[in-house]
Amino acid sequence: MTKVLLLGGTSEARALAELLTAAGIKVTTSLAGRVADPRLPVGAVRIGGFGGVDGMRSALTDYDAVVDATHPFARNISANAAAACGTAKPLLRLERPGWRDRAQPSWHWVDSHEEAAAVAARLGDRPFLTVGRQEINRFVPDLREHSVLARVVDVPEIPLPATWRLLTSRGPYQLPGELALMRDHHADVLITKDSGGEHTWPKMAAAEQLRVPVVIVARPPRLPGIRAVHDVDEAVDWVRGLNTMTG
Ligand code: NAP
Repeated sequence: MTKVLLLGGTSEARALAELLTAAGIKVTTSLAGRVADPRLPVGAVRIGGFGGVDGMRSALTDYDAVVDATHPFARNISANAAAACGTAKPLLRLERPGWRDRAQPSWHWVDSHEEAAAVAARLGDRPFLTVGRQEINRFVPDLREHSVLARVVDVPEIPLPATWRLLTSRGPYQLPGELALMRDHHADVLITKDSGGEHTWPKMAAAEQLRVPVVIVARPPRLPGIRAVHDVDEAVDWVRGLNTMTG
């Protein structure tokens, strides 16, 4: 039977772990260990980095295939998976669709978090910052004097400017709550990255409804030559196909 290493940390990875387990396929989800209290998937779980490409290559001896279902902005682990699998192990990339197709005229696309900070600083005084804890320090220089509402899962390690308000919470979010939050803060610009999918989409709908401009960081380029699907069911089919070949 095929043994799958599932690189996770996303809702798609949890959904895939559940479907594969239900189909009787052995799956181990790997988490980076960034979040203090992670949502655990069904099935086996390992937590912590592999120690780069060589570490992952050693770990792969226990598995027949890898599904990389990590976040679209987690490019290091994806690059490591591509290098570690090489031609030796089948690798599938499961990546949720981005928001390019839903773009509105009020969206400002940028290529880096620093650029996002600079553009947002020009557009508003009261940004709603939703890029995650790891990137938050990149917004401090440009937005130090702004009244920022920063939403994160875990409290950042760096001290934040006194003008900033921190909100710790975890999605998925709904439109009424996002509207209330943005109205309450009098948000005049939303800063996000193109995480894509549905779980964090309601803030984009709220911004549109409230006529608040959006600064959106584009995804880093996808790795060439890696088979990719957008949908969890397609990933299940891919694994089942391997199972037929090896089983
Ligand atoms: P990253 O920059 O691509 O990875 C940095 C290092 O963290 C990797 O080299 C690896 O260490 C370790 N790592 C990352 N993901 C791992 C995993 N699933 N299992 C084991 N080790 C992992 O990753 P990141 O952007 O910090 O994201 C970390 C995790 O959070 C990912 O699993 C991702 O799916 C999830 N996440 C990220 C974001 C985001 O915006 N970046 C948002 C939501 C969830 P070694 O080199 O030692 O193996």
